[in-house]
Amino acid sequence: MTDPSPLFETYARADIAFDRGEGAWIIDTKGERYLDFGGGIAVSALGHAHPHLVATLREQAERLWHTSNLYEIPDQTRLAQRLVDATFADKVFFTNSGAEALECAIKTARRYHYVKGHPERWRILSFEGAFHGRTIATIAAGGQKKYLEGFGPKADGFDQIPFGDHEALKKAVTEETAAILIEPVQGEGGIRSVPPQCLRGLRDLCDKHGILLIFDEVQCGMGRTGKLFAHEWAGITPDIMALAKALGGGFPIGACLATGEAASGMEPGVHGTTYGGNPLAMAVGNAVLDIMLEDGFLEGVRDKANRLKQGLASIADRFPAVIEEVRGEGLMLGLKCVVPNTALVKELYANHMLTVPAGDNVVRILPPLTSTDEDIAAALERLEAAAAKLSVEAA
Ligand SMILES: *Cc1c(COP(=O)(O)O)cnc(C)c1O
Repeated sequence: MTDPSPLFETYARADIAFDRGEGAWIIDTKGERYLDFGGGIAVSALGHAHPHLVATLREQAERLWHTSNLYEIPDQTRLAQRLVDATFADKVFFTNSGAEALECAIKTARRYHYVKGHPERWRILSFEGAFHGRTIATIAAGGQKKYLEGFGPKADGFDQIPFGDHEALKKAVTEETAAILIEPVQGEGGIRSVPPQCLRGLRDLCDKHGILLIFDEVQCGMGRTGKLFAHEWAGITPDIMALAKALGGGFPIGACLATGEAASGMEPGVHGTTYGGNPLAMAVGNAVLDIMLEDGFLEGVRDKANRLKQGLASIADRFPAVIEEVRGEGLMLGLKCVVPNTALVKELYANHMLTVPAGDNVVRILPPLTSTDEDIAAALERLEAAAAKLSVEAA
């Protein structure tokens, strides 16, 4: 590491750099192999260097990278149509990141009420422990003090409700409420799933009051839970949904999806992006969908998830002084720790396995959706070794 670093000091980075990847494995600059079950925070859903993504990117790189949204982008229309065909949505806006997808979702919800003659309906209800990004609006939507501090007054128009408090939620709905914003499975907040009946309850509440329901599936979407989208488990749909992370498989892509009705305020000129949905990004996004929409892909995710979750549960049973609980859906799993979560992340790292800490003292396990049986076995081996070591130290 260079010292002092020319970079903003916003990250306490681990002293390691990676050189290349192969599937679930990532190789550092010294040639050491690590099992990547963090996926760069749920991004590398098809593992590293997936041959179809590499071939697509290469081919597109030689043809055309960028044109701007002043012109038709056939691959953008195609990816939008495929997302529409696979979901509740009628309309898509592409961005470069999750936070921008959320910004679009927030603007779409406010504009909807505005063009319906209700400019006073602009407030958005969100939940404690939520994470929606790091822009000025999305830190207000997330409502977490640690991300808001020092950036001036919190952007107005966002009200937080305690996670799982139905009464507080009902009371928080007013004549000014435009939308309810929620992650069907909280990621940064500690892999906290919203029970399907609660998602259905939210849908009912929104319908009753003419409020838009926004799902942030930036982390839990794109096959992660064993369905293409996490809300599908609840059998209901939102009006607006934000996507990113796995959508580009490592290429920065975000998207805001909406029903035609919810998107009715997004008229020509009211929103825009220079890079969003450019030809290079859209080629890769389509390639990701080629794989995820293949017959049997999601079934495979569910099979692997069952095996991994059982293995984790058995490790948690054997080392209760280290792991208290296994939580999450599909291949979006969390280990609620007894020891500090960072201690387990560190010990796994020493065992050449990458994971990601989350809130609520949880370690996130976010394997590629393409992990093999051998990869899962390797992960369980490393987890067992790490838990055994920490268990001895905790005794
Ligand atoms: C990562 C994340 C975001 C923000 O995405 P960025 O690409 O970092 O802007 C928003 N919502 C959720 C649920 C996320 O996990």
